[in-house]
Amino acid sequence: MSAETSPRPIALFDMKAQQALIRPEIDRRIAAILDSGAFINGPDVRELEAKLAAFAGVAHAVGVSSGTDALQIAMMAENIGPGDAVFLPAFTYTATAEVPLVLGATPVFVDIAEDGFNIDLQDLKRRIALVKEEGRLRPRAVIGVDLFGRPADWPALEEICRAEGMFALDDAAQAFGGALGGKRLGAWADATALSFYPTKTLGCYGDGGAILTNDAARAELYRSLRTHGEGKTRYEVERTGMNGRLDTIQAAILLCKLPLLEEELKARTRIAGWYAERLAKHVTVPGTQAGADSAWGLYSILLPDAETRGRVQAAMQARGVPSAIYYPKPLHHQPAYAAAHAAGLRQSPPLPVSETVCQRILALPMHPYLDEEQAGRVAEAVIAGL
Ligand SMILES: *Cc1c(COP(=O)(O)O)cnc(C)c1O
Repeated sequence: MSAETSPRPIALFDMKAQQALIRPEIDRRIAAILDSGAFINGPDVRELEAKLAAFAGVAHAVGVSSGTDALQIAMMAENIGPGDAVFLPAFTYTATAEVPLVLGATPVFVDIAEDGFNIDLQDLKRRIALVKEEGRLRPRAVIGVDLFGRPADWPALEEICRAEGMFALDDAAQAFGGALGGKRLGAWADATALSFYPTKTLGCYGDGGAILTNDAARAELYRSLRTHGEGKTRYEVERTGMNGRLDTIQAAILLCKLPLLEEELKARTRIAGWYAERLAKHVTVPGTQAGADSAWGLYSILLPDAETRGRVQAAMQARGVPSAIYYPKPLHHQPAYAAAHAAGLRQSPPLPVSETVCQRILALPMHPYLDEEQAGRVAEAVIAGL
């Protein structure tokens, strides 16, 4: 054999390397569930909830069927609906905006800040004031998103929500494991929504999610809402809920993966460091955030413009290096949300940062099993396209 072996292929996300480490444990746990027949609300769900709460340092974790349902159940518990304004960033995954709309509330899109990819606090304050001035909608909630794993400025968001009597909901779907001031995401907002979609920092092999909170009354409501609004006894319906349960097999898979998460978060941080070292001179890399630990759910760079981004993607592809665009369009430009955007504020100020970032953003491969040689090849491919 020649010394020249072909290089290890690079995946955007790699779930196989991780699975190889825990496959026997997964097989054992799934077999036990098949034997027990406790497919819904089995003991694995309760065990997972206790371990998630401990990991995040919160009092309560409630397993649900997806990150989207976590957002929805958290908002249903506050009775958010018609006539309510829900403020959220224009640059995020579609689910963040979809949920208030499904509940009959009106999303008010807020621009993101230039430094980082999270909600712009000044623009948020301005839009809250405008909603009050126009007088048609009640400011009810802010959904802060920890985009790409970077914690939003929760102390400031909490203060704004307290001052306005609004519900603070953390969409931490991309950020489980991230922290502020050494305290993990989960306790910073009134409630925190997690997604266990397979590619998230903690992912199952299907759909799953959870809601974290320190508020016992809220946790109880979430348990009721995820099971059709059931009361103390099974067929007592106290409120309109939904079927939003986490199934036992997904909980079992998450129990196998959770013990790896601490080390995987460290690996993600190391990989982000390798990228920054090699790329900071050439492109805009995610800046450091004082007192914050990103969960590095995704690693996105900014290119000068869409044309350069196209060249970089082509150069990467030619070298067998995958990339992706999260997100190509700000939500207020999505056909499904344009009417809601117009309804939210009659006089909406522009959202320039969200619009330009969509043209410039590019996600590089990011998963805990990427090694330094691979990270180096990714960086070389990016530079080759500039
Ligand atoms: C993935 C994601 C969601 C939705 O989670 P699902 O489990 O896919 O329903 C919501 N918000 C953000 C920011 C996400 O990345």
